[in-house]
Amino acid sequence: MKAAVLRAPKDLRIEAAADPTPAAGEALVRVRAAGVCGTDFRIWTGDRQVRYPLIMGHEFIGEVAAVGAGVANVKPGDSVAVEPNYSCGTCALCQEGNRNLCLSRTAVGIDVDGGFAELARIPARCCWPAPAGLTPEQLLLTEPLAVVVRAVRRGAARGGERAAVLGAGTLGLLAVQVLKAQGARVLAVSRSERRLALARELGAEAVHSLAAGPGSEAARRFSGREGVDLVVETAGTPEAVAEAIELARPGGRVVLTGLPHEPSRVHFFWVVRRELTLLGSMIYQDEFPEAMRLLKGGAVEAGPLVTHRFPLDAIQEAFGAYRLPDSIKVAVIP
Ligand SMILES: [Zn+2]
Ligand SMILES: [Zn+2]
Repeated sequence: MKAAVLRAPKDLRIEAAADPTPAAGEALVRVRAAGVCGTDFRIWTGDRQVRYPLIMGHEFIGEVAAVGAGVANVKPGDSVAVEPNYSCGTCALCQEGNRNLCLSRTAVGIDVDGGFAELARIPARCCWPAPAGLTPEQLLLTEPLAVVVRAVRRGAARGGERAAVLGAGTLGLLAVQVLKAQGARVLAVSRSERRLALARELGAEAVHSLAAGPGSEAARRFSGREGVDLVVETAGTPEAVAEAIELARPGGRVVLTGLPHEPSRVHFFWVVRRELTLLGSMIYQDEFPEAMRLLKGGAVEAGPLVTHRFPLDAIQEAFGAYRLPDSIKVAVIP
């Protein structure tokens, strides 16, 4: 098979590799599309350490090409979205049902080879069969959408509430749509005017550009009170985390789902004074089916989010496109 092999930071080569063979309990997936996300970018630049050589790519979908012994949940020919994380299954966290928090979790495309290749070998339990009628681009957004579905659930969004979404990348633009599907009214907050225009198209009732200053006044205007009921933070920057706290009303909830890699200067005085509920939300547990349901039913639009497509041979260009101001989701099509 053909694969994009990372041999060192920014040294990504298209190479011929042996076709993987599925062992017992595993599935071989013929990759139809793979998304590039911030994690891939950090691995590519070397900011995030991995073992080389590595085939990156954790947001991918495709068709089951073969299965190993004992696999019952999928069969060859099935169209699937891949859940690219699997837990150990035996630790206390796994046994409690918190498999997304397992400390021995394996991340496909990070700890083991992933989807920037024609074929990928994964545990069959990571394959979620797609409902009929989903396009490959819809299916490709299942993984980031599952992240957002969990974050919105953690925040317990209710119909009629005012919510703010911080960040208008893939996760933020999906969060706008999921909150709207829950009946919440949404204020989108971002540094990018261009993305805010898209947030409006996708259902944000109001937008605020951080280029014009902090968003607390916009949150007060939008909510008609001291701030919004719920904030979903998706940007993962230290500034965005601090900003999220400023948008919530007293008694409000703040869900952090962007992973802040740097420490943030948060004025915790306001967390106490406003009795805020701060919630972390880490990837997903069982949110893939709900994500597929939202895509299938049309509550979440995928089309406008997939802005760039590159064949596997041009994967270097895909990483270049990731940083373009007009790029949201960049897809690699093997
Ligand atoms: Zn990702
Ligand atoms: Zn575990």
